Amino acid sequence: MSQAHIHNTLTRSLEPIIPRADYGNTLSLYTCGPTVYSYAHIGNFRAYVFEDLLQRHLRERGFIIRRVMNLTDVDDKTIRGAVAAGVPLADYTRPFKEAFFQDAETLRLLPADANPAATDPEQIARMIAMISTLMERGHAYQAEDGSLYFRIASFANYGRLAHVDLAGQRPGQRVSSDEYEKEAAADFALWKSWVPEDGAVGWESPGGKGRPGWHIECSAMATGLLGETIDIHCGGVDNIFPHHEAEIAQCECAGTGHVPFVRYWMHCAHLMVEGSKMAKSQGNFFTLRDLLLQGWTGREVRYALLAVHYRASLNFTMEGLSAARAALARLDVWQERLLEVAGSEQKLEQPDLATEGFFTALDDDLNISGALAVLFETVRETNRRMDQGALNPEQARGLLEWLARVQSVLALEPRDQPAKTFPEIDLLLAAREAARAAKEWQKSDQLRDQLAALGWLVKDTKDGQKVTGG
Ligand SMILES: [Zn+2]
Repeated sequence: MSQAHIHNTLTRSLEPIIPRADYGNTLSLYTCGPTVYSYAHIGNFRAYVFEDLLQRHLRERGFIIRRVMNLTDVDDKTIRGAVAAGVPLADYTRPFKEAFFQDAETLRLLPADANPAATDPEQIARMIAMISTLMERGHAYQAEDGSLYFRIASFANYGRLAHVDLAGQRPGQRVSSDEYEKEAAADFALWKSWVPEDGAVGWESPGGKGRPGWHIECSAMATGLLGETIDIHCGGVDNIFPHHEAEIAQCECAGTGHVPFVRYWMHCAHLMVEGSKMAKSQGNFFTLRDLLLQGWTGREVRYALLAVHYRASLNFTMEGLSAARAALARLDVWQERLLEVAGSEQKLEQPDLATEGFFTALDDDLNISGALAVLFETVRETNRRMDQGALNPEQARGLLEWLARVQSVLALEPRDQPAKTFPEIDLLLAAREAARAAKEWQKSDQLRDQLAALGWLVKDTKDGQKVTGG
């Protein structure tokens, strides 16, 4: 069996995934979660879907994954949102947290083992303890504005992940904002001193009343829940600098200093929409909810986000969604055909047609294009055999078992769904039922095709119409 390899951002090379000595088959995985100031958009979900594929493939390869995904529920944006809405911070972020978990379920993302929120008292205490250690060791200092800053000149490895020499650059510059441009390499805030714009948001600390910076939130939650070394840490390319660079500096300077903070760094490339950068001002900004309202399903969006290699830029288009719908329908019809063949009694000894190629492709840094090519080539070839009546039940059963393994990684299986959640589908089904009752077979077939074009497969059973898809 081949072995799973991934591209490590830190070394810029392909490396085999090997657990730490004494850790058996277990791997820890930390993935930067959403900032809950709004609904997550499809660019955010591209990263989460990639991480889900990674987790599912590693699980298929026998690893036991312990995963933590944080929720950033205090930062510049959440505070700004709460102040603008005139509500307490927790009231402002709660619906967005709930929406995030609903969306994650719609996209079939495996739940993390823990989803710590930055404002949990336990997490705030961890952040303060970490900052205190950094102060004691001379890696942090308090500035005139009362805020505490990390001294990047004190950490020689600063910039190693982003592959730029940043240590010691422009000493004395400080950035209180969570986000800043690459050019402005500067000491970053660990703890931001309370200002009137923060309203009721603030915690007491040895550095005075204030709130944590975004970077220390992830450092404290990651090491607090997964230990001093994490096997795999993921995020979007936007996170490499300054966020992940800062996470490394904080963790390695506050830790024992003997082990790296992260062994494998993985970053997902940008998402574009119809060839342009997604922006509200461009009218090409989509949350998952926007797409569901347009009649697309979570499964279709998942496919569209999944089908492009995570390190390649993804151009998200309506055409791509239509292609996802067609590909899924093809897969669903194939499965139905296999089930029919598998159910017959005939027994012949025939070679197994399933292939490991799907999984070995994913072993190569999650080469999804290669994996999908194997899948659809198998669909094409075995459909041809079924057309000729040359696929026997044993082979069909073997393929169905293989498909179940494939779907444990892709999570694109059709599900029986209550059609009433999709009003248009519900209407078409009702119309078809009426047509059948009136024995208008041509109309009934036409409605079936219409439903198929929308990604729903209808079967007529003795209990009436059965619909799968979505
Ligand atoms: Zn993070």
